[in-house]
Parts: sequence; structure tokens; C-alpha cells
Amino acid sequence: MTEPRREVDAVVVGAGFAGLYAHYRLRELGLSVQGYEAAADVGGTWWWNRYPGARCDVESMDYSYSFSPELEREWTWSERYATQPEILRYVDHVAERFDLRRDIQFDTRVTAMRWDEPAERWHVSTDQGDEVSAQFCVMATGCLSAPKELDIEGVDAFEGTVLFTSRWPHEGVDLTGQRVGVVGTGSSGIQSIPLIAEQAAHVTVFQRTPNFTMPARNAPLDAETVQARKAHAREHRQAMRDSRAGVVVANPEVSALSVDDDERAARYGTAWEAGTLYAMIASYTDLLVNKEANDTAAEFVRSRIRDVVDDPDVAERLSPRSHPLGTKRPCLDTNYYATFNRDNVTLVDLRATPLVGVTPAGIRTEATEYELDVIVFATGFDAMTGPLLRAGIVGAHGVALAEKWAAGPRTYLGIATAGFPNLFLITGPGSPSVLVNMMVAIEQHVDWIADCIAYLRAEGAESIDATPEAEDEWVEHVNAVASRTLFPTAASWWMGANVPGKPRVFMPYIGGFPQYTGVCDAVAHDDYRGFSVRRASTGERSATAASA
Ligand code: FAD
Ligand code: NAP
Repeated sequence: MTEPRREVDAVVVGAGFAGLYAHYRLRELGLSVQGYEAAADVGGTWWWNRYPGARCDVESMDYSYSFSPELEREWTWSERYATQPEILRYVDHVAERFDLRRDIQFDTRVTAMRWDEPAERWHVSTDQGDEVSAQFCVMATGCLSAPKELDIEGVDAFEGTVLFTSRWPHEGVDLTGQRVGVVGTGSSGIQSIPLIAEQAAHVTVFQRTPNFTMPARNAPLDAETVQARKAHAREHRQAMRDSRAGVVVANPEVSALSVDDDERAARYGTAWEAGTLYAMIASYTDLLVNKEANDTAAEFVRSRIRDVVDDPDVAERLSPRSHPLGTKRPCLDTNYYATFNRDNVTLVDLRATPLVGVTPAGIRTEATEYELDVIVFATGFDAMTGPLLRAGIVGAHGVALAEKWAAGPRTYLGIATAGFPNLFLITGPGSPSVLVNMMVAIEQHVDWIADCIAYLRAEGAESIDATPEAEDEWVEHVNAVASRTLFPTAASWWMGANVPGKPRVFMPYIGGFPQYTGVCDAVAHDDYRGFSVRRASTGERSATAASA
């Protein structure tokens, strides 16, 4: 690292929804801010993931900013679940409206960040040769922005076209007449397969784990619905923040095992019709804590698959049996199961015939070789920790974040990690993040961070750092809450199980959004309890115990 060439108050890494809002709030505080973004423009997730069928699975009107009532009034979504291009247009509108591109340098990846202890500042380096010194760093790097490195042999030798859903070409791809193989049946695969099948000559779906997916029942939004929401936007937003997952769903009251089969079937039927991510799991109180209860919901979904898919063998192979419903991120789809009734779609069950690797001509399993013109990898992300560990962060005493998190991420509230002063994580591990509507989580984190920085400035404080004790307590709490649920039983990306060698730790906080924000608010209210704050005037650190 060379000497910094410029000093700013804050560096914001990333220009997705989180980064943009961080710019807005920090600028409001009067801070000088430098933003860096690896992509060529704003949008984050919605800039990168342009595969056919990409759309949100939290309703558009909820999956948008709430910080500006004017913005809410002037923007109108066209569909219940907006497509990627529409979401990107929205991000563009927000960036323009609030002049948020001004301080962001695009096509620039932060490659190293070092805490300069004597100066009490971060020294940030980029792949474009920038060297900047900042008092604060806000990591708006996203939970799902680092594609998982391919763990499949032979891809370089493939003579056809290789595509990744997470890096889809901006000019689009014409798959007409092509033999396409899709590897992966998470949300990206499930959203794209039906549309790829409409275009390609043939689609071979390579499925390792069948996923639970529910019909989205997407539709255009009518003017009346939009007006009704806009008229009650403030109350609705508050209800979202007060809800467990950042979306308004009626709370369940009884156990799935306390009612008879008919009542349960009726309830699941209503949830299935709702076309939302959370309705099924919110049907009963115990679906995520009791396997027997969960089995009733899982079996309901499997029965729906059998209803739709003509070939009973294909239906069975599409039926998830290796994890309880909701313990891997479920999906919302349009025509996913029906796609397997098409003549030009073949399902390859990699559990029955494991994948051997990619060959020059296609994909080989232990049973046969499939000749392909195009392979689409919908193989997911090194989620939550990946983007942070790839930024080369080194904290106090020269300790690298990768070293500190070798056995899994450790944070206080998912916002800070001890030994890395003035470094703020947005929707970091240990916060509700990916378990909830992420727009709600992002706004709450950015607001908390901005308030914290305002507090530090008002106090004349130089730096803030989570105490190891507070962090230990929080990590213990996060793990304790998760261990009371079925989540750790599934090999999910929430557990880090999708990346070979990654520590298996349930990363997000499952205690519920209101419970979490209650703790965050109390911490701030109690002069940032669990943090040590160093004030320039005295040169001393003050700290209050987390559980005070
Ligand atoms: P991102 O949008 O991921 O932005 C992070 C940015 O940081 C990226 O642009 C990246 O290039 C940049 N970056 C990272 N590291 C560096 C670095 N070292 N240097 C410079 N730049 C860097 N969530 C929901 O709640 N509802 C949904 O419907 C939903 N749909 C999704 C659909 C897809 C296809 C995917 C992949 C995710 C979806 N998510 C959804 C999760 C989604 O990631 C969040 O909702 C939200 O967009 C995250 O915003 P963000 O700004 O935190 O991160
Ligand atoms: P994902 O859920 O991690 O799915 C990856 C898929 O690839 C899985 O089916 C996985 O199988 C398979 N896979 C990975 N490596 C493989 C290998 N070596 N061989 C064979 N199969 C392999 O990733 P994603 O679909 O991109 O979704 C990630 C998250 O992004 C979602 O959970 C969601 O939070 C978000 N997202 C949301 C939407 C939306 O609907 N709005 C759309 C896309 C993404 P295993 O399960 O066996 O590991």
C-alpha cells in the first residue's frame, strides 16, 4: 500500500440499494464521501443479475425505499413483482433524483482496506490505483454479490457458450435453436428455466437439490391497488417494520399439529394461493421449529407438484425431501413445475446420477454425456461473508478479517466486528438481513449507522469499536436462537454449506426484525452500549457492557 493521496470522511463500498441510501444519509450529515463500485453503474444485484425472468420475490411496492414520501408518491410499479429492468429503472431514478452518482467512482473494486492505528483512519486501495484515507468505512457490498467460484471440472474446455445468471450479458442472449443446460435450481434457476425453455430448442436441467417453490401469481398492478397503498403508505411502512420479516403477514396463532387434516389443507391452500414468499411458513407457529409440523407443509407442496407435473417420476424427483420447508431459501416462480411437462425439457437428477464434469461437448454425469451448445450456471453466491472477505480488510493489530472469521463470521449486531473500528457492515452476518425483506433491513442499518456517526461527531469522538465481550454475547445469542429452529439442519447458503470449505455457521439472525431493531435502538439509546468509544478530547476509551 502506498500513501493515501486523498482524505475523506467516509468511504462507501458498493452502489446497490444500500450504498445509495448510505450516500444519501451521510451527505445529509455533511460528510465528504467517496464511493466505489465494481460495476459500471448503480443497482448492485439489479445491475448484475439480468438473466431471463429475473424479478423480485418481495412485492415491488414493499421492495422499494421508504425514506422519501415524495419518492414513494411519484414512482408507480407496473407489476406485483417487478422485473429486473424495471427495478434497475427505479434505482436509476433514485440516483438521479437525489444526485447520488456524484461521489461514486464506478468500474472500481476496493481491493484492500487497512486500519491505520496511529491515524485512526482507514486506508483504502482500489484496483484502479486509488489510495484514500477515510475516518469511516461503510461496507454496502451486498450479501449476494460475490458469485460462488465454480466447483465443477472442465468448464474451460467447453466448446460452447458459458453463461452465469449472476453475470448475464447486458445485450441479452438469443437462445433460439440452442441446446441449453442449466446447472442449479435455486431462485435464479427456477426463475430463468421457464423462459429459457420457451426459447431454446432443448433445455436440460441439472438438479442437485430440489427446492421448495411457490407460484408467484404475478400480475399487473391496477391503479386502484396502487392508489390505496399510496394513500396509506406511512402506516403500511410502519407495519412492515413491525413485522417479523419486513412484510405484512398475519402472525400464526396455533401449531400445525393442533388442527385436523382438512383444516390444515384449507389453510395451506389459502397460503398457496396468496403468491407470497412468507404465507406458507406463516401458516402455523411451529413450522420452523418442529419437523413433524413442517412435514405437513412440505407434503402439501409435494402434493401440488404431483398435481402439476404429468410424469410421476419427474414429479418425485422435483419434490424436496432432504430439507424442511423454509430452511433453504424458498422461491416464488411462474410456471416452474409446468415447464417440466414440455417436450423440450429434461430433468437430470444429480443425486441419482452425479455430475462428473463439463466436457468439450457438454456435461457428463455418471450415467451419460449431454451434448450442449450453451451452459447456464445458476450456481449461487459465496453469500454474506464472501463480498467482505474479498475486500482485503485488515483491522487493528494487523489482524485480517479473513483470519478473524476463519471459523465463521463474528459480529456485534451484524453491524460491527470487534477490532475493526469505524467499519460498518450493512446487513452483515448476525443481522436479519437475507431472512427479511432486504429493503427494510438496509434502511434500518443505514439509519442506525448514520445516527451513530452523528453521535460520534457530536461527542467529538474519533472512533468506535465493538467490544469483544459484546460481540461474544451477540454471537452466542444469534447461535442460540438459530439452534432452537430447524434451520441448521439444512445444507443452505445461509449455513455457508454451498461453498466447499466454508465454515458451517447459521449466518443471519433469526430472532425477528422487531426484536432485532429493539436491541439496536436500545444500544444506541444507551450511548452505544457494547461499543468502546474513543474521544479526542481525553484520548480515552469508554465502554459499557452489552447487557447493561
Ligand atoms: P448489492 O445490490 O449486492 O450491491 C452491492 C454492490 O457492491 C455490488 O454492486 C457490488 O459490485 C459492489 N461491491 C462488492 N464488493 C465490492 C468491492 N470490493 N469494491 C467495489 N464494489 C464492490 N432481496 C429481497 O429482499 N427481495 C427480493 O426480491 C430479492 N431478489 C433478489 C434477486 C436476485 C437475483 C438476487 C441475487 C438477490 C435478491 N435479493 C432480494 C437480495 C438483494 O441482494 C437485496 O435485496 C439488495 O438488492 C441488496 O442490496 P445491497 O446494496 O445491499 O447489495
Ligand atoms: P442458490 O440458491 O445458492 O442456488 C444454487 C443452485 O446451484 C442450487 O440448486 C445448488 O444446488 C446448485 N449448485 C451449486 N453448485 C453446484 C454444483 N457444483 N453442482 C450442481 N449443482 C450446484 O443461488 P441462486 O439461485 O442464485 O439464489 C441465491 C439467492 O439469491 C436466493 O436464495 C435469493 O435469496 C436470492 N435470489 C432471489 C431471487 C428472487 O426470486 N427474487 C432470484 C434469484 C436469487 P444445492 O442446493 O444442492 O447446493
